[in-house]
Amino acid sequence: MGARRLDGKAVAQAIRGEVAQGVREMRQRTGAAPKLVAVLVGDDPASRVYVRNKVAACSEAGMRSEEARLPASVPQEDLLRTVRALGADAEVDGILVQLPLPPGIDRAAVLLAIDPAKDVDGLHPLNAGRLAMRLPAPVPCTPAGVVELLDRSGIPIAGKRAVIVGRSEIVGRPLALLLLQRDATVTVCHSKTQDLAAVTREADLLVAAIGRPAWLVAGHIRPGATVIDVGINRLDDAGRAASIFGPDSPRVREVRERGYTLVGDVHPLEAEERAAFLTPVPGGVGPLTIACLLRNTLRAARARREGEGGW
Ligand code: NDP
Repeated sequence: MGARRLDGKAVAQAIRGEVAQGVREMRQRTGAAPKLVAVLVGDDPASRVYVRNKVAACSEAGMRSEEARLPASVPQEDLLRTVRALGADAEVDGILVQLPLPPGIDRAAVLLAIDPAKDVDGLHPLNAGRLAMRLPAPVPCTPAGVVELLDRSGIPIAGKRAVIVGRSEIVGRPLALLLLQRDATVTVCHSKTQDLAAVTREADLLVAAIGRPAWLVAGHIRPGATVIDVGINRLDDAGRAASIFGPDSPRVREVRERGYTLVGDVHPLEAEERAAFLTPVPGGVGPLTIACLLRNTLRAARARREGEGGW
């Protein structure tokens, strides 16, 4: 029995369609389309791809978007000035600062400089606090995407035992709050958790957000669990790809031809054997992150331009 795949692409497409419709309606009412500005500091290749994809997704949904690029050597004060200027710009509805930032820049100071009303990644401490207090707030996009995927796939959350591996501010922590709000019993694990497998094996709903390729294996997974693999790791070693996917897998060819393949934090073949539901990598949680970013941008624009709440 193989796990059923949860189709993140299809769910993301549905959300993007709803956002595009919302943008059309907003344009009819106000004459303006929402505008997102993505701030990219330095030239980390993965960050460049993420920002490019986010900007392209905006235009597909009928929104305006821009990339504000700054060199890795930018003084922190200049970066803060740029972020504050975007906050003061009446044309800008959403601001995201692509992470990670280069060494030497204080991430908290940058996040604090974002206008909370335009904080479409939901990372400003005010919005993180509002989420913790169950007040309406923009929710970080990846955790929001995970909950959407579960809901739209008909997988219940209330009363379930959820175990999240990873406690970052972007994924693990906000997801724990969201699942708790939906009445799951939530445990958060991290690098100091003892006997990780004993904890994760209790999960009806297991979420991996670690950043280590194929780290969670069969022994971590309760048979019949739902496994959500948030991890996106680039694997550029054909031998390692063969040991995970099998020597004849197209993934091994992909490494040889393209230079890399993407693998999650969960061992895909072992999880396939144990889980009832599983998100693929790529094509699982990744597409939902962008869809939820677009939705947050539309909501921020409506709230700011039309006085509508409803995060
Ligand atoms: P971080 O590096 O910020 O956090 C990783 C977390 O995993 C930390 O809490 C760390 O623990 C924990 N951890 C690391 N190693 C272990 C281990 N051996 N056992 C248990 N816990 C461990 O990562 P992010 O949250 O930013 O990202 C996690 C993954 O999700 C990455 O692969 C990233 O690429 C991916 N990602 C995917 C997105 C998407 O759109 N699908 C969006 C964002 C991220 P500790 O706190 O103790 O150090």
